[in-house]
Formats: sequence, structure tokens, C-alpha cells
Amino acid sequence: MARGSRCKVKADGSCPDAADVFRLMLCAGSWRASQGVGSVPERCGVSALCHEVAACLCGGADGCGDEAAGAAAWIRAEEEALCARVFSGGRDGVVSARGQELSLMADGREVLRGRADAVFLDERGSRVVVCAYDWAAGRDADGCGDGWRLAALAVLLARELGCVPQVYAAVLRPFAVEREVAPVFFCPADVVAAREAILDVLARAVREDVPCDVSEAACRGCRARGVCRAFSRGVEEWSVADVERVWQELPPSRKLAAFRLARLAEGVAARIDACCEAELKAGGEIPGLALSPGRQLFSVADASEAFSLLSARFPRHVSAVSFARGCRVSVSDLERLVHAARREEEASASVKGSRVLLRDLLAPCSEVRFSRGSLRECGGAGAAPGCPF
Ligand code: SF4
Repeated sequence: MARGSRCKVKADGSCPDAADVFRLMLCAGSWRASQGVGSVPERCGVSALCHEVAACLCGGADGCGDEAAGAAAWIRAEEEALCARVFSGGRDGVVSARGQELSLMADGREVLRGRADAVFLDERGSRVVVCAYDWAAGRDADGCGDGWRLAALAVLLARELGCVPQVYAAVLRPFAVEREVAPVFFCPADVVAAREAILDVLARAVREDVPCDVSEAACRGCRARGVCRAFSRGVEEWSVADVERVWQELPPSRKLAAFRLARLAEGVAARIDACCEAELKAGGEIPGLALSPGRQLFSVADASEAFSLLSARFPRHVSAVSFARGCRVSVSDLERLVHAARREEEASASVKGSRVLLRDLLAPCSEVRFSRGSLRECGGAGAAPGCPF
């Protein structure tokens, strides 16, 4: 592995990438189906910003904007923390590389590529820290793929190093709302097992007759969704079906698949709505579709001033008690208020402690009700596979 910094560009899509492995595990046909389909457009400005962060990491903060410099500083700090956990002597004698392009060969051809955004390796090559960056603002926006993506990077690194090391891997999301870092440890046996599983799915993925398996987790971020017959067939079947009648005859496993498809169709419907709205707002025309004017919404911005005004006008009728009956209390706002007050008293006060205190204080004037339950998947048959290693 080359020493020092190396910032290169992405793979060209001629074989699956480490980031595709999670989806392949769910739908082996997804890579073939997405061939020739353009990539998902990135959020406006994200591409430029991530290049700025990469430049900042490779060459220092000169010329970087505040946002990029802040993201790079956070990445460096997280990398330092990971290295401190893994290498007993800290960074002394540790080899580092950035933007390492890796590939895996099988039967004389390249079958998998991946990019390790940062790699730290001890002198004997027995322990490796590898980081992959994700520029999304949400957590694992592409569907819980971190484990498989990191397992694939561990496999690629083992091939690059010519030995099977212990791998400590993490996805770093500098722009995530919640910057959680959840490192994954792969012992050499995990790396070997991951290699077998990944080679197996890669062999299926390139076959011409590979099937496409519709599921919410796989299809959610799949580039092929617009051209995938399995996906459109699944949605179409249900849209024309007498749902209640068909439902009675379905086996439980197909009911779960139908639930996932419905979640997916909901997401597609919301995105199409947003596109229609944006186009009409921008002055475009969609025959048969119009944007109705928004309704005027009246709300009170300052409750105490509203009370003063109303009680001044109707002093006999508007008392503090009668006014309060018309007010809604935002528990989350009160939680923030109580937490800020506690933090002033005690810097180490926890958010959880503030929530508990608020509930205790308000116990005489509050009530506890249960909301309607909501549907959620609970890891049963056909659940999305997390990385088993
Ligand atoms: S849309 Fe779904 S079923 Fe079709 S290729 Fe993608 S992941 Fe597979």
C-alpha cells in the first residue's frame, strides 16, 4: 500500500462497488439492472463540498471554506480516536493512505472495486483501520448498508495487503445531523467469511438470468427503479388488485413483501408529488394537473401577549385558567427549556435526566396516554440482512 496521501476519483461502474454489496445481498439482479442507468443526482453543491473536504484532508485547510474545514477537522479527530483505540503506540509507525482505490479479482477479472477514504496500518500489517466517508445529511441514507460496505472494504484491503489482517472499520458522515460513528471490528475469520459471501453474490450478480427481488430496503435507493420490470410489475399488480380479497389468500411471507412494496410506493408517490409541485410552482404546465392556492393559516405566535390582549378586552370572561384551556403545551419545547436550565446549574446534566425531571415535576398536571401502534418490521423472515460478521 502506498504511503502518504493519495486522492483519486471514483470507479467507472464496470464492476460492482463496495457500496453496492448490501443491495446485491438483497437483490442480486440490482447491479445488472442498473447498468446504463444514470447515477442519482447529488444534492446541489454536495459534490463540490466533498471535493473541498477531500482537498482539505489531503493538503491542509488553506483555501477551504468554513464548512469544509469543519468537516475535515471532525473527520481527522474521529480517525485519531479510532487509531488511538486500535494502535497501542498511537500513530507512531502507522502507515496512512487516503483515497485508496482497491479491487478484487476472480478468475482473472476484476469483480469488485471500492475506495478506502482513509487507511491506517501498523508496521506488521496485522491491524488496519479503514474509514469510508459518506456525505449524506441523513444516517445511512442508502438503507443500512454500512456493515456490508465495510465488510467489502475489509475484503478488498486483505487482497491489497496480501494477508488477512484484523480490520477496524467505520463510516464517517461529517454532514450528518447526528454524527454517530459505529466502528465495526472484523477478525481475520470474519474477513475470510465475508470474502466467500461476497464472491458468491458477485458470481450470481453477473449472470444473465439473475432475478430481481423487490424489497423496500433494496429498492429504496436503487438506481434501476425507473427501469426495473420486477419493481413496476409489483406496484402494478397491487394497484389493480382487489386488495382486501387478495389479502385473505396471501401466505404470511407475501404479506410482508406487500407491506414493503406499499412503503416503497408511498415514498415514490411523495417524490412524484414534490416534482409535480415544483414544476407547477416554477410556471410549468402539466395537462390535467393544477396547484390549488394555499389556505391561510392563522396561529398565535406569542401566547402571553394573546392572553394580555384578550383579558384586557374581556376581563370577566378570559381568566388565566380559561385561556390556558385553549393552549397546547409543547412537551419537547419544555424539555429543551428544562435541559437548558439544568445545564446552567450542572454542565454534565443529561438530556434523559431532564426529560425524567420534567415528567416528575409535571406529574400532578399531566396525563399519560398510549398512541395507536404503528407497523414496523421486526427482523422476521425476509428481513433485510444486516452484516453478520
Ligand atoms: S428496483 Fe428493486 S428489484 Fe429492481 S433491481 Fe433495484 S433493488 Fe432489484
